[in-house]
Amino acid sequence: MFPAIWVERQGRHRPSEPAIAVGERVHASWALFASRVAGLAGGLRHELGCSPGDRVAIVMRNRPEYLEAMYGAWHAGTVAVPVNARLHREELAYIIEHSGATVAVTDPEHDDDVEALLGSAQSLRAVVVAPGAQWERLTALPPDPVVSREPDDPAWLFYTSGTTGRPKGATLTNRNLLAATLAYYADIDHVGHADAILHAAPLSHGSGLYGLSHVARGAVSVIPDPDAGAVEGEQFAALLRRWPGLSLFAAPTMVKRLAGDPAVSAANLEHLKTIVYGGAPMYAADLEEALDVFGPRFYQIYGQGESPMTITGLDKADHAEREHPRFSERMQSVGPARTNTEVMVADDEDRELPLGEVGEVLVRGDTVMAGYWRQPAETAETLRGGWLHTGDLGSLDADGYLTLRDRSKDLIITGGMNVYPREVEEALLRHPAVRAVSVVGRRDPDWGEAVVAFVVPSEPAAPPPAAELDRTCLERIARYKRPKEYRFLDALPTNNYGKVVKRELRERLADPATTSPHQQSPAN
Ligand code: AMP
Repeated sequence: MFPAIWVERQGRHRPSEPAIAVGERVHASWALFASRVAGLAGGLRHELGCSPGDRVAIVMRNRPEYLEAMYGAWHAGTVAVPVNARLHREELAYIIEHSGATVAVTDPEHDDDVEALLGSAQSLRAVVVAPGAQWERLTALPPDPVVSREPDDPAWLFYTSGTTGRPKGATLTNRNLLAATLAYYADIDHVGHADAILHAAPLSHGSGLYGLSHVARGAVSVIPDPDAGAVEGEQFAALLRRWPGLSLFAAPTMVKRLAGDPAVSAANLEHLKTIVYGGAPMYAADLEEALDVFGPRFYQIYGQGESPMTITGLDKADHAEREHPRFSERMQSVGPARTNTEVMVADDEDRELPLGEVGEVLVRGDTVMAGYWRQPAETAETLRGGWLHTGDLGSLDADGYLTLRDRSKDLIITGGMNVYPREVEEALLRHPAVRAVSVVGRRDPDWGEAVVAFVVPSEPAAPPPAAELDRTCLERIARYKRPKEYRFLDALPTNNYGKVVKRELRERLADPATTSPHQQSPAN
């Protein structure tokens, strides 16, 4: 089984129903979508020389042609390489070269950067711009038959977001994609053809993966109208009216933004089915606010490219049980293992740790990638013993809920005591004058490492005094965890998926420009 079949099937089942929409407007029926995909597949194979297993890179912002390119690539038996279009030119070049893509599909916004690689990226033979005249011609070619693929054939090279070092291409097979798709129905929602998914986040990442469960069931894929800008309250409310049964994948920052938008609180949310959020920590204070606005329509996922968005999850019932004695702990956890994954917390030698102890999160199951593309040493290391080593630190409770502490390298050890930045961040976010915060460790001659908090104040001109921030911490966490230094910034550095890049903050520690006048005395 492989995803290309779904589009072809829906094209026959419900030819005149909407498959793709741009904002409130229907862009293509299933019959049109299926025929364009099958035409493009013919073009890829017979005009652009693609053979099954070749890689086709997709460098585009979210647009209908993205879905045509992805399913066209699969229909032709090739491997899709969805590249985050917000990456820097150099990063794009690296991924195209490393994946060995022979064809790249791009849009007019990224055309120059991608075409420039035709001479330098060794394997790249052709660049097709969509929309455009060539695209229209290729998608109008006579439908080509679907090229059959095996469950263990690669389908999607998922280049990880690279908060550290060079991106690595998690090789996702058809089996991995199918397992993640079925897990959506098992754990998140049943999806029907009257439903819709809003792609407000990049299709090259979580939104694209959840899109599979919707395409498979004949639901509508809704691409936000590019002319309407980022999806804000009014637009969101209009889309809810137009597309009942709407779900979306949103990073915590977007959930927070929507929850704070008066147009959303005023909107009729009856037709909002589910907000799947995750990919980064959602802080308790923000989640509480979002629950007040949206009600328990949330599913939190914990996943990574290497086990596509499917490791553990916190379901709607968990979000609804506000009276549960462990409600607040649960809301700070990432939930129990998904139906088709095994999760273990292990020590440095991969021995299972007792409940409550913090160790590396290991995962096993059909969603776990085949390996890193063309990186055998990293693959062997990450998949050793048959378990995916996530690099995340966490602990399991007696009910099977996993709480992430941090990525292994983010742990701060100060005076021999472990401090997980997340707990300090959670504490500081309770201060009303703190808009955002990220905590890192700085080398310290006395303590080994010292806790440093980078704080974005709500009012840039009036950062809260260090003594007040200390008090906020001391109300919630142990004294030794309290930052030894606060630095104030206008914004935290984030990568192209909106995740805070702690590496950059660590580099900034050497830069006196961000040093705060509120430095604390080093007494612990
Ligand atoms: P990526 O492969 O780019 O999606 O990054 C995956 C990483 O994001 C994971 O290894 C975690 O460190 C982090 N992450 C994913 N989901 C969550 C979540 N629900 N809460 C906290 N961190 C998360």
